[in-house]
Amino acid sequence: MMQVSSDSYPLRVAIIGSGPAGFYAAAHLFKETKGAVEVDMFDRLPTPFGLVRFGVAPDHLKIKSVTKAYERTASRPELRFWGNVEFGKHVTLEDLQAHYHCVLFSSGSQSDRKMGIPGEDLLRSHAATEFVAWYNGHPDFSEHTFDLSVERAAVIGIGNVAVDVARILCRTEQELLESDIADYALEALSRSNIKEVIMLGRRGPAQAAFTNPEAKELGDLAGADFCVLPEEAALDELSLADLENGAKSVARKVELLQHTARREPSNKPKKLTIRFLVSPVELLSDENSAVAKMRMVKNELYRTETGTLRPRPTDMIEEVPIGLVFRSVGYRGIPLPGVPFNYDWGVILNEKGRIVDPESRKPLPGLYTSGWIKRGPIGVIGTNKADSVETVNCLLEDVDAGRVSTPVNPSAAAAEEMVRARQPAVFTFEDWKIIDALELERGAKAGRPRVKFTSRQEMAAALGRD
Ligand code: NAP
Repeated sequence: MMQVSSDSYPLRVAIIGSGPAGFYAAAHLFKETKGAVEVDMFDRLPTPFGLVRFGVAPDHLKIKSVTKAYERTASRPELRFWGNVEFGKHVTLEDLQAHYHCVLFSSGSQSDRKMGIPGEDLLRSHAATEFVAWYNGHPDFSEHTFDLSVERAAVIGIGNVAVDVARILCRTEQELLESDIADYALEALSRSNIKEVIMLGRRGPAQAAFTNPEAKELGDLAGADFCVLPEEAALDELSLADLENGAKSVARKVELLQHTARREPSNKPKKLTIRFLVSPVELLSDENSAVAKMRMVKNELYRTETGTLRPRPTDMIEEVPIGLVFRSVGYRGIPLPGVPFNYDWGVILNEKGRIVDPESRKPLPGLYTSGWIKRGPIGVIGTNKADSVETVNCLLEDVDAGRVSTPVNPSAAAAEEMVRARQPAVFTFEDWKIIDALELERGAKAGRPRVKFTSRQEMAAALGRD
């Protein structure tokens, strides 16, 4: 057998998904592979960068500058980007195994978790993930509509995604103009009638999932007062005990929330309140089957056998008028055709990134995963670096040991021919560079950082295609 990764027989890797995990995997492959390596990166969307483009909040432009590093990786001649090519639709696992030694899935978590309460499917009750994709100009969500004519919205969950959603609902038009929010969302949110946003945490301030800089930002909104109820900012005895030996960042978070609770509101036009120790138990409808009220229960904390503090309901029920609900209780991965999946956790079955057989639990040769679809939807963008490094190190160990698969047609030209035959409307990285420049130009004309193209048709037209 020929030695994989020699100049005459380069190691060929297909990466499915061009978000941070995919790019960190490619960068580590280029850094660590001893011989020649060729990487083809596939994405179901025409544009690269996954959640950096469609998940990171439009007013967090600094975070998005991480794409500069991904662009450096993409500029390597050994990397090709095949956008608008969907795994399972245009190319199958068999197709890829015919052309690559390794296939690495970094497709992220494309769905969301549900709350499992009555009324969850009423009109004006949405997944936060859909709202995020909509305001970020995701081509599959740009036609969605959200009724912003109501006065009061609730966001269920207090992770960083919930904070993003609440903050965007509260931003002034001027603040949104300084972001790269999709044009249609800018217009809809500028006309929004929402005066109050309530975020619901099922546990207390010391267990809040959001991070401190994100919480601090809520206190700096130009058009909304950030509020916490003093009685909910105070810690129960169990949380106080944990705080004494806990991380300093948690103590700072509690202090920030208690400081907010003590502050007098300054009568800004909108109000954003974080409630603690409450869970929605039912959404109630108006005569049009749309959300009109939310029934929620007050929780108390108890310590589990493993030592964590979990919420349990008391008999105190509260009912509040609410016109719009966004559940933000976590993303969820979806299975990929032919790839073993853990349905309980919503992740690909794997060990340290090696995809394993569901029965024998032995690694399947040449199949790998990294990012949220490997470990679940937790961690910030940078967390994906170490995650992808772990996977790629396993992959390279397997290459050295001759444990990867043997493609029948390991040629870059043959792979390209297959991709273009299956999906003639493919977008390359060169196409992305043109789209990127055009979006920045449109932004400059409008006095904004960027004006995104939000449909495949618009992007194709911008490239002079039908
Ligand atoms: P997350 O951080 O896991 O937060 C999920 C939230 O939902 C938690 O508050 C959780 O409460 C709550 N929850 C779960 N099930 C619930 C239920 N049945 N009823 C009520 N509440 C429920 O997830 P995320 O906000 O989707 O964020 C995903 C990851 O992306 C996180 O690691 C996050 O930090 C990261 N992210 C980072 C940024 C940033 O850096 N600016 C921005 C966005 C996202 P419990 O804690 O009680 O389980």
